[in-house]
Amino acid sequence: MKLFSTNDKNNTVSLRHAVLNAFPPDGGLYMPCELPQLYSGFFREIKNLHFTEIAFRVCEKLLSGAIPDEIMWSIIQSSFDFPIKSTQLDTSLCVQELYHGPSLAFKDFGARFMAHLMSYYLKDNDEKRTILVATSGDTGGAVAAGFYDVPNIELIILYPSGKVSALQEKQLCCWGNNIHTIEIEGSFDDCQRLVKEAFLDKQLCRSYTFSSANSINIARLIPQSFYYFEAYKNAGIEEDLSICVPSGNFGNITAGLMAYKMGLPVKHFIAATNSNNTFTSYYKSGFYQAQAPVETISNAMDVGDPSNYPRLMFLLGSTWNKVKEIMRSWSHNDKDTRNAIKEVWDKYNYLLDPHSAVAYLSAREYHKTHKAKVCIVSTAHPCKFQNTIESCTGVSPEIPPRLASQISQFIKPAKIQPSLESFKDLLLDRTSST
Ligand SMILES: *Cc1c(COP(=O)(O)O)cnc(C)c1O
Repeated sequence: MKLFSTNDKNNTVSLRHAVLNAFPPDGGLYMPCELPQLYSGFFREIKNLHFTEIAFRVCEKLLSGAIPDEIMWSIIQSSFDFPIKSTQLDTSLCVQELYHGPSLAFKDFGARFMAHLMSYYLKDNDEKRTILVATSGDTGGAVAAGFYDVPNIELIILYPSGKVSALQEKQLCCWGNNIHTIEIEGSFDDCQRLVKEAFLDKQLCRSYTFSSANSINIARLIPQSFYYFEAYKNAGIEEDLSICVPSGNFGNITAGLMAYKMGLPVKHFIAATNSNNTFTSYYKSGFYQAQAPVETISNAMDVGDPSNYPRLMFLLGSTWNKVKEIMRSWSHNDKDTRNAIKEVWDKYNYLLDPHSAVAYLSAREYHKTHKAKVCIVSTAHPCKFQNTIESCTGVSPEIPPRLASQISQFIKPAKIQPSLESFKDLLLDRTSST
């Protein structure tokens, strides 16, 4: 398997290189040179395949021998040792629950697969890596759970102060060992910027070999494409299917488009956004204009300049016409999101977290003009947003025991201003004192 940079098609690298280095020096993003079609019988057989078998067959095609089969199979089995549940709300609407992994968010799929893949690549050479990850809420918890105790890897998590939920903060600060957490007095975009700047800083790069675990790392996106095939399997193959994805950095929906390019029959991909509607505005106007992020109750989607936009545009041939053809997009404010949580509870006796509720609203808009069945990609367990859910519905979703015991310890994070200077001081101070 070869990958190229979205800024330079001639700059190609191996999967190992792309996974360990996260992004190319030219500022682009790595993408597979080829998204091969799955073999013709695949979509007929799919209903008899377990999710891990689906994942393996997609890998066989996409990775085309980059990893030996038996290692690939063991990475898949240890990464996806939790269920995907599919719930039918009514005949034209189903919810695919992707939040039954250790951090209770869909990001476990990407984080665990990436951790196992990196560990495989580093093990033999006894190489070390420091992974920097900026999180708007869920990424950090998933990545920490994925990397905890993984040899040769140290993880540094940056999160925006006061902008993640109380539970999310506990999930970021419960680890110790090879996991370090830093609270940034700024926005998520500040955290992302610090990660980018640290990567380019010569002085830091003399002390650290960095890698990234954000959705810019292709090892996060590849496994996210697998569950779109699972959604197709669960939806019943005869009907038209559209998939609705609550979107922030647009990694999740980009993975869906990768599956589409590999032959997955989907009518439309619906990008549901909260008040951070940069993409929805682009969809309507054909004009892309990054915005400053605003805070919402679906905070993992508070992104003003989605970092996977170049990948998405590449997949759609960089034309607005193609975007209009295969995608739909709506944006929804907090008030409507709260009403949606209540509506779904009243109507279906079902709890949606605020992110999935944004997707529900887009699905409803879509059904005003389209008949296709819609599968909502549900990204987080409602218990992660207990206060919001309780204020909307009067019920308080319980935290599963496994997570409750994980977060019982709290290790106070370092706290810094959102400047490269402060970040460098902290990182260089660590190396000089150890
Ligand atoms: C990260 C996240 C999203 C947004 O996913 P992107 O890949 O960044 O578009 C949506 N919902 C939840 C719960 C998330 O954690």
